[in-house]
Amino acid sequence: MAAVELKGVRKRFDRQEAIRGVDLSIASGEFCVFVGPSGCGKSTLLRIVAGLEDVSDGQVLIGGVDVTDKAPRERGIAMVFQSYALYPHMTVHDNIAFGLETGRKLSRDEIDRKVRDAAETLALTPLLDRLPRQLSGGQRQRVAIGRAIVRQPEVFLFDEPLSNLDATLRVQMRIEIAKLHREMQTTMIYVTHDQVEAMTLADKIVVLNAGRIEQVGSPVELYERPRNTFVAGFIGSSRMNFLDCRAAEVSADGVTVVLPGDVTLKVPAARAEVAVGDEVTLGFRPEHVELEAGDALLEAPVEVIEELGDGHLMYLRAADGTLVNGRFAGAARLHHGEMGRFFLVGERCHLFDKEGRALTRVGS
Ligand code: ATP
Repeated sequence: MAAVELKGVRKRFDRQEAIRGVDLSIASGEFCVFVGPSGCGKSTLLRIVAGLEDVSDGQVLIGGVDVTDKAPRERGIAMVFQSYALYPHMTVHDNIAFGLETGRKLSRDEIDRKVRDAAETLALTPLLDRLPRQLSGGQRQRVAIGRAIVRQPEVFLFDEPLSNLDATLRVQMRIEIAKLHREMQTTMIYVTHDQVEAMTLADKIVVLNAGRIEQVGSPVELYERPRNTFVAGFIGSSRMNFLDCRAAEVSADGVTVVLPGDVTLKVPAARAEVAVGDEVTLGFRPEHVELEAGDALLEAPVEVIEELGDGHLMYLRAADGTLVNGRFAGAARLHHGEMGRFFLVGERCHLFDKEGRALTRVGS
């Protein structure tokens, strides 16, 4: 295992700059997840670490060694892609062994032992003689991971490895990858679109937006202390609600804002960089809305109810037309058109300035 460091990394494709100056340190043995909207540069950054893309500027260090100009096979990495990239005419055994045969010179017995060890770890032993077409999607992805494991890489790179699998298999494989990381203690960098994968697997999440890092932190840090509205809206399985407000009172222990509909709410703010009359944005997560009591009440007819099985989402339209939602346990008791009441709790709300920077509980 090895630490990975990116220093001032930039990548231009033709005239477009896909990566616009990224500085990032990933500790040895850490599980680091890259998230961000489509096209933000997640895969490009991963491919830069792998050596599959050159940088236009900056440096890549693995284990303290500058590998910027080194070929992928000289970097001590192994990569698992979304498309499993297995050879259809080779058995599971030979597909896994392929990871070894392209690299070092090993005896047949050594190769066989390493393949069997990896197969054991991934519960593939009974399938070693099968061809890829005789496997399920999850089994194929395990073979692809097996091929990476046998190389005993310093750093494992995963590019959306589970996105071709159905929901049940994704959960199974997610647990297996977490287990693999615990057992192997290898540095892992993982690209995903999936919120739950990012939150459950990561020691460290890197939120990217348009080729830049918005915030780096643990899943809990990013959830509780998003640095700006972008991260606040991106992290969390139901998106954070945002309402345009005005600051009505600013004191040492908080900012009182006026919400659409002339409702007032006091938000304990860590940074009082707000003046009375400033436009600010209030953020609150659907799971933090209360039905019975709170510090401020939003009342409006129910627009939509979404049943989730273990609970429901209720949508109300605030006085300025913004649709906001709350997430509650159990089945909905209200229906479309009936009066809904959302109570907000100041302690659980976030406040952002006009540029979207957090004014409360600011993360690093
Ligand atoms: P997704 O989540 O959709 O896979 P991503 O965050 O992984 O997206 P990248 O694939 O890294 O995004 O792409 C970042 C930007 O660079 C995009 O605008 C993309 O069109 C561009 N890009 C990527 N590869 C190339 C290439 N080979 N040539 C030109 N532009 C490219």
